[in-house]
Formats: sequence, structure tokens, C-alpha cells
Amino acid sequence: MKYQLVSGLETHVELATKTKIFCGCTTAFGGEPNTHCCPVCTGQPGALPILNKKVVEYAIRAGLATHCTINTTTHLDRKNYCYPDLPKAYQISQFDKPLCEHGYVELESGKRIGITRIHIEEDAGKLVHESGYTLIDYNRGGVPLIEIVSEPDISSPEEAKEYVEKLQLIMRYIGVSDCKMQEGSMRCDVNISVMPEGSKEFGTRTEIKNMNSISYIDKAMRYEYERQCEVLNDGGKIVQATLRYDEKTGETSVMRTKEDAQDYRYFPEPDILTVVIPESKVEEIKSQLPELPLEKLNRYIDELKINPATARLLYKYKKVCDFVEKVISLGASVKNAVNLTTGVLYSKLPTEEDKENFALPVTAEETAKLIKLADEGKINITLAQQTLSKMAEEGNPVSAYIKEEDLAGVDDSELEEICKQAIENNPAAAADFKGGKEKAIFALYGFVKKATQGKADIKKADAILKKLILG
Ligand code: ADP
Ligand code: MG
Ligand code: ZN
Repeated sequence: MKYQLVSGLETHVELATKTKIFCGCTTAFGGEPNTHCCPVCTGQPGALPILNKKVVEYAIRAGLATHCTINTTTHLDRKNYCYPDLPKAYQISQFDKPLCEHGYVELESGKRIGITRIHIEEDAGKLVHESGYTLIDYNRGGVPLIEIVSEPDISSPEEAKEYVEKLQLIMRYIGVSDCKMQEGSMRCDVNISVMPEGSKEFGTRTEIKNMNSISYIDKAMRYEYERQCEVLNDGGKIVQATLRYDEKTGETSVMRTKEDAQDYRYFPEPDILTVVIPESKVEEIKSQLPELPLEKLNRYIDELKINPATARLLYKYKKVCDFVEKVISLGASVKNAVNLTTGVLYSKLPTEEDKENFALPVTAEETAKLIKLADEGKINITLAQQTLSKMAEEGNPVSAYIKEEDLAGVDDSELEEICKQAIENNPAAAADFKGGKEKAIFALYGFVKKATQGKADIKKADAILKKLILG
């Protein structure tokens, strides 16, 4: 029997607020263990939490960017469990009234993956298992999280990958999180079930906890899909369970079987008042949302007429987009701005993270100046590329490389003279070209470029050379 995969993701995203969700401690990553702590975030008896306003604002921003409705009256709940990563023995989270509900993330196919809810909660501390001991670092305890729960709308590992990437991109664009999976600021619980193809009734699901890389999500989903199909084909039943994925073996194993909401004895958090958000605040946050990734991609393709493959190289990196858009707004042509960025500048930014950070010592202003020289035919594109490359390495302005007096370019009669010299000095190439060998003309371009130190407009030279040779 063939089975259809069904999946929904619960994604935890650490918010980039400066301070923790219920106290003034820093949220900075790392630090000496247990130095980013206070009585509140280590759960000392009698310490009282105060909700960080920024956390609510960031979560609303995330909700609006994923097309959710915002519950303007909401509250927090206690989720009770006993484990050393949480000294209070409960996590402050949200249960029956999440801040955001009923949204979606759109995939490039147009398919929408529903967002059931987004709620705010606190992160727990980190357990470090070391030479027979378990050490606890509470620096991460109380760092604000949003949990984004998707509908079971995901039908393949490819869709899961795209969903996570899109979510990551949206969160980065709106500045609520850096979503670094390797540092744990974004992690996913992957729920998986299978059902006979064509069926409408979902099967029993398993949940793979705490996935911290997109490629592991992909591998774990494929493994778990195969495993479930095999169990069913052998006449067995899927047992609802929480699984862990072993990165080394590529297999899943059971952590614990079925847990239910009732196991957590949720109840309203008595130490925090009901949260009431003025409608005007929601409107204000909405009006400040930047253009979202998919909107930008479509605008690049439809309005700026950037070809789709190149537009995709750009839109993933917010800082690169801001740079290119500034260069264009300063008068540079779209074509040269885009091509020089993805050509010259990207060659200096080999990793995803490099492009993400876009920390080159070159400004949009100087880049625009340079590109305008190329646009106006005052320098050729090769010289523009070489100059931008140096600017990006050395951080100097255009004027350090191209002098005013160089900019006159090469006037038409001078260019004609140089073309004549090119033919005189390369009679064989000229003859070959005349005889039909089109590539022979490159030798003549070479002469012209050298004689003019790259200043000649090669298109013009091409026309003159052809006229001189072919008559
Ligand atoms: P819990 O909070 O106990 O994990 P939820 O009902 O909130 O349970 O569901 C968690 C996630 O599991 C959601 O992302 C949802 O889309 C997904 N999910 C629910 N049922 C299924 C199923 N049969 N197969 C795959 N995923 C499912
Ligand atoms: Mg769950
Ligand atoms: Zn604290």
C-alpha cells in the first residue's frame, strides 16, 4: 500500500529582545555559565515576574507577518513539569488563548501552510552532561520564545524544508530573531503520520523533538515516513510517541510515549495580569512592518525585471537587498547594480552567513557612483568590476582608483585611430575575422582595451572595427 505523509511543525524561535521575558537579565548567547541570571529567572521562591513589553510587540510582529489574527486580550498560563532545566517546576507559557492565531506561510507553489497559533513563553536552562555529571546553565532560562504551531498541511520533506526556510526568512526580515539553528535560536519539533493515499483520515502521529538543522529535518522525516509505512505494511500499529533523532545513525528512537495537555495541569499564571493590547498598538506595529520576503521577490521580478534566478540570489539576504535598493535609488541602473552585486560582491561573501551579515567596507553611495560611470559609458564594465572588487577589499572611494582625468573616456576620433592601429598591429586576426572566424576579433578588442587602459567602450570599438575590416 502507498502512503501519504502528513506533517505539522512546532517551531521555537528565540526573540532578539535585549532582556529576558520576565526580568532584566541579558539574553546574550553564551557567557560564563549562570552569570546571566537573577532570582526571577532561576525561580527563587517569592520572586515575581514582570512581562517584557517588547516580547509582546515582537510576537505581534511575527503574527502579523504570518497573516495571523491578534488576540488583543490574552493571558499567560503555567505549564507544570518537573525537570532540572526549569527550577520553578513550571514554564510560563500560553495555553487556551495564544497571542496570535489562524495565519499562514505561503510557499512558492502558492500552497499555504496554515499557522494554528503563535504563543509566547520562556526558554528553559541548558543541561550539560559531562564525565558522569550533569551540569546546569541557567543563562538561557527565561529567554523569550515564540512557539509557532503549523497545521498538519505539510505533505513532503521538500515542503517542510521550504516552510522552515520561509519562516526563517520572514523572522529575519522583521528583525524578531536571527533564527540561527546551529545556535539554537530556532528549533523544530516535527510531527509525522502517514495515511493511505487518497484517504482523508489522519493516522497516529509521532513527534521528533528539537531538530536543529534543516538537513536533519529532511533526513529524519524520510526515515520516520519509511519506518511508519513498514510498521503498517507489516500489519502493526503506530504508537503515539515523542522521538529523538540520532544524527549519527540517522534513526529515530523513543524518548517517551504519549503525553497529553492534561499531564501538564495548565492553569492561568496568577503572578501576571491579563494582557490587554490596544488596537492602535497592533495597527502601529502593522504599519511599521517592512516588505516581506515573498513580496520583495515578486517586486524584483515583476517591477524591477530582474530575472527570477538572480532575484532569488538577492532576496534571501535583507542587508544585501537594502544595499542594492539604495544603489538603485541613487541612480545606478538595475542591471548593473544587480549583476555587480551578485558577481563581484558575492565572490567575497562565500558563506550564507557572510551574505547575511554583508560586512564589506564598501558603501552604497560609492558603488552607485561607480556604476553610473559604467552606465554612462565612461568606463567599461570590466573596469567597473575590477574597481568594485578593490573597493570591497580596501574600502576606498571610487576616486582612489579612477581619476577625474581618466573619465573623459575615449572620444570617437581617438577610438577610430586606435582601432586602425589594432588592425595594423594584428593583420592576421583582422584577416581571419574577414574570412569568417568571428572569435578572431577578440585579439583586436584586447589591443583596444590595452591601448586605452580599459576606458574604451568596447561596443563602440566593435562597430568601428567591423566597419574598418568589412567595409
Ligand atoms: P501537542 O501540543 O500535544 O504536540 P497539537 O495538537 O498542538 O499537539 O499538535 C502539534 C502539531 O502536530 C501541530 O503542528 C499539528 O499540525 C501536528 N499534527 C497534529 N496531528 C497530526 C497528524 N495526525 N499527523 C501529523 N501531524 C499532526
Ligand atoms: Mg508537541
Ligand atoms: Zn533574570
